[in-house]
Amino acid sequence: MRNKELAEQFYLIAQLLSLTDENPFKIRAYEKSAQVIESLPEAIEEIAKDKEKLASIPGIGKSIAEKVIEYLTTGKIQRLEELKKKFPSGILELLSIPGLGPKRVKLLYEKLGIKDVNTLKEFAQKGVLNTLPGFGEKIVQNILEGIKFVSISEKRLFLFDAMKIVDEIIAEFKNKNIIQIDPCGSLRRRKETVGDIDILCCTLAGKEKSVMEQFVNLSVVEKVLAHGETKSSITTKSNVQVDLRIIPKDVYGAALQYFTGSKQHNIHLRELANKKNLTISEYGVFKITNKTKPICGKTEQEIYSILNLDYIPPELREDRGEIEAAANHTLPKLIERKDIKGDTHIHSNYSDGANTIKEIVDYAEQLGYEWVIICDHSQSLKVAAGLDIPMLYKKIEEIKKMNKNSKVKILCGAEVDILSDGRLDYPDDVLKELDFVIAAIHTGFKQSEEQITQRIISAMENKFVHSISHPTGRLINKRPAYNVNVQKIVEYAKKTAVMLEINAFPERLDLDDVYSKYAKEHGVKLSIGTDAHHVSQMEYIDQGIYVARRGWLEKKDVVNTMSYAELKKFLSLRR
Ligand SMILES: [Zn+2]
Ligand SMILES: [Zn+2]
Repeated sequence: MRNKELAEQFYLIAQLLSLTDENPFKIRAYEKSAQVIESLPEAIEEIAKDKEKLASIPGIGKSIAEKVIEYLTTGKIQRLEELKKKFPSGILELLSIPGLGPKRVKLLYEKLGIKDVNTLKEFAQKGVLNTLPGFGEKIVQNILEGIKFVSISEKRLFLFDAMKIVDEIIAEFKNKNIIQIDPCGSLRRRKETVGDIDILCCTLAGKEKSVMEQFVNLSVVEKVLAHGETKSSITTKSNVQVDLRIIPKDVYGAALQYFTGSKQHNIHLRELANKKNLTISEYGVFKITNKTKPICGKTEQEIYSILNLDYIPPELREDRGEIEAAANHTLPKLIERKDIKGDTHIHSNYSDGANTIKEIVDYAEQLGYEWVIICDHSQSLKVAAGLDIPMLYKKIEEIKKMNKNSKVKILCGAEVDILSDGRLDYPDDVLKELDFVIAAIHTGFKQSEEQITQRIISAMENKFVHSISHPTGRLINKRPAYNVNVQKIVEYAKKTAVMLEINAFPERLDLDDVYSKYAKEHGVKLSIGTDAHHVSQMEYIDQGIYVARRGWLEKKDVVNTMSYAELKKFLSLRR
């Protein structure tokens, strides 16, 4: 599937065009087409076999369709190549800095010749930027903050995208000479973002060479960086580095453990081993007195057990207390996909979702759910087609009717805006008609910590609110969290018995793992919502489960594991 790759080309065109005098509608059209391509559930290269069909997709059209086909056949888009020639490559990095739009980037480039982040930083610190019109003290401060944010988040993939690449590689790889194959590193630990992708495998004896040969020739490969007998590196067409290592069968577990990390977890394990006169490496566990022959290493279980530890699931390996818990046999029994009975946050075509409630219910049945909660936006969120009150009542009626003969039970919910003064976007007599209310901040991100925290607290004090959606508002690689005191939110969530959401949308994952653990430790329940705007996005539930697992959550900590009857009872408790 090359959708993401193609979407990136069009985003790039839009970004570069924004530095020219191009008509804003045209720029918007490129952006729109990128968004459409990105969220297509089918592979664009399949659709593109029929040009008419491709061009007829809303938001694409004839001219974009031609560019898609141009890219798929030549690997390039002429229009983009021209634009790239016009601007130095560092400019794109400048555009990704929050608070620095195209207008300012253009000014910096034209007036001061700034064409990369380092020069920008230098000029900002020296106080040169202040000389430009519109660059006040506060703006410059924001730019410096933005640079910090970009340099941290640079080049890391969303977990969801990294997993897709790995799935494609493994699917294409189907090689009967391979006995076992596993991605390791931060991907196996299900960290929210992933740098390079590391894959381990073990092969039948004598087949190493042919497996490597196949790897460097997979269809995802753009460039082969290294091609060795036991290790090769490639970059994919979406410019991600993937390394494959071939490991001997009898030390596979040791290598898998070692390359899964985290570094801190492994350091702690080595210390523990040393106390027992053992050493651990990627080649196995050895006695300090005999480093030639490993005493174990075939499986990961062996390694943990020789250190008198319970087996530690990869998601917990961050040295956040899991080694102590494994020694005391108090590791949590982590929540699993099979525990999930429903999704608490799905948009229908009543607001900005793509599908009807019926389509959502059918998809939920495929996923094996007992119930779904349809949450559309509330009335003030006009950009997302928020529902006015008459429309909301219409939806409530439709759901009541559908529930009479629906196997999957439907709860009528709403994602209700917390307005900038802390009031909710529907009055109480409307809220009380809903089965489920999540309250969310979508506006006023620039308010002070006190204001934003207070807004959320006042929402929690409303007895009709069940959960707070995406509590920190961050977008991974795009936007830091708004100023919110999460400790205080957790304290009030406990006090008011309001849940906090783990929003499972790949760029949100909000709450994150650390805050989810913190919430659990303070007795707060969590709801996992995919925030799906298309039924295919209901699959994001896995992303939410990964966050929950990394946050040490068990079945009982998460409302999605309740049966329909349990859920209804639980939701009525607050009212
Ligand atoms: Zn939202
Ligand atoms: Zn939403």
